[in-house]
Amino acid sequence: MRSGYKLRLIAVAAASLILCVLFALWYPGYMRKYRLETCEKARRVLEYTYTHKVEAALSANGGREDDVDYEKLLRESYTECFGRTPGEDGRICGICRGGGTWTTTIDPETHHIRTVCDEDGHGAVQTFVKEPFQYAQ
Ligand SMILES: [Zn+2]
Repeated sequence: MRSGYKLRLIAVAAASLILCVLFALWYPGYMRKYRLETCEKARRVLEYTYTHKVEAALSANGGREDDVDYEKLLRESYTECFGRTPGEDGRICGICRGGGTWTTTIDPETHHIRTVCDEDGHGAVQTFVKEPFQYAQ
């Protein structure tokens, strides 16, 4: 009776230990994936906010692309989405939960933005909006 109890106790302890080891193996990968997904979603939100602002500006000025201040709209988008703007060098840290630094550039021809994260494995998705800007004529 007493040795049966000890045996059950050892079995429960061993099972708990195995569960802890499995959790410790699974958790870092889960967090890496979670941080990548939130980084990509945040960059997507920034890009859609910027796209919406450019389209509104084009609708307001009759579609004159050269009259739009794209840099200003990008700064406004950053403020609206994250409450702050990148530095003079176009870099901003503290938004990616993986610790990466973002760099946003505006394509001189299409005026679409491209935000790259320098965290390992985060930079792959660069441009979400690929169509030309839409605006009411
Ligand atoms: Zn990132």
